[in-house]
Amino acid sequence: MSQTATDPLLLAQALMRCRSVTPADGGTQLLLAAELERLGFAVTRLRFGNIDNLFAERGSGGAHLCFAGHTDVVPPGPTEKWRYDPFGGIVEDGILYGRGACDMKGAIAAFIAAAANTRQTNGRISLLITGDEEGDATDGTVKMLDWAKANGKIPDFCVVGEPTSKVQLGDTVKIGRRGSLTARIVITGRQGHSAYPQLADNPIHRLVPALAAMAAHRLDAGTEWFEPSSLQITSVDVGNPASNVIPAEATARLNIRFNDRHNEASLTQWLREILAPFAPQAELAVKCSGEAFLTKPGEATAKLAGAIERETGIAPRLDTGGGTSDARFISRYCPVAEFGLVGVTMHQADECVAVSEIRKLSGIYQAVIESFLK
Ligand SMILES: [Zn+2]
Repeated sequence: MSQTATDPLLLAQALMRCRSVTPADGGTQLLLAAELERLGFAVTRLRFGNIDNLFAERGSGGAHLCFAGHTDVVPPGPTEKWRYDPFGGIVEDGILYGRGACDMKGAIAAFIAAAANTRQTNGRISLLITGDEEGDATDGTVKMLDWAKANGKIPDFCVVGEPTSKVQLGDTVKIGRRGSLTARIVITGRQGHSAYPQLADNPIHRLVPALAAMAAHRLDAGTEWFEPSSLQITSVDVGNPASNVIPAEATARLNIRFNDRHNEASLTQWLREILAPFAPQAELAVKCSGEAFLTKPGEATAKLAGAIERETGIAPRLDTGGGTSDARFISRYCPVAEFGLVGVTMHQADECVAVSEIRKLSGIYQAVIESFLK
């Protein structure tokens, strides 16, 4: 058996030495394919657009557990801010440094080592690995799921290896995520001299009270699993250099992070309604980067939480906070939860994780596999 695959540290280091800043693959998927094939997985490599993806599966019949993850990473930023080469996979004092250490090459390595160390007698284990999570996410998980659906490979449950732990490994599992919607509002008035307002129509005087009404509105009070939805005005732009000119146009942008009480359609409708009394002709452009979703706690989440608690002694909190992830796509097909390393340093300079944590995560993933496939 390959030593790299059974030792999560060696595999994590090998992955981190590949420069896979989205959309580059940097050799990560070829490396994974070779290791997975050695472990008895059937690997299908799928390229969509300029993105490399792979699906690997082992076993047949029975329960089907999938691990989903991404090999791409965000750029390192200025390298002088790093203590070590962001693509060096260097270990110092038991800490592994480099881009992707916690988000999420470390977790991929931990899951593969868990599969390598599991005697699989029942069921199916699969991995859905994309190279497009940190980018547009259009040629990755979305297309992989279409392919999986067409080929009868949708799992019974999916664990996404995002770094969900907050302070201690095992403290948090994400069972849903809020949705995110951005909107741009343009109000057109009539330009004029500020001394003769009766001859003009000031769009700022329409925009400001409309924004005030939006900001003052309480979208909801939260739910059992979600925080209250929140609207933040992110920009108000007029760009008027003159002090005696009423401008012709005023623009604002806002972002709404919303729970499962709302969706793109309902929020768009609400924005139109709240704008109407102030500026019935306002232009409203909405972009929803992900709807809210929730995997209702049940048997599968209990198995995941139980495995974490057995391995760490911590009963994880089921949470829905934070930004969006590819789990939003997977949730359209099957129940999904996210669980991985402590994410404090993700996307930062000196991203790092303790080697002991990668090994502990591998042990947890092994317990998860065993509880699903027994
Ligand atoms: Zn990630």
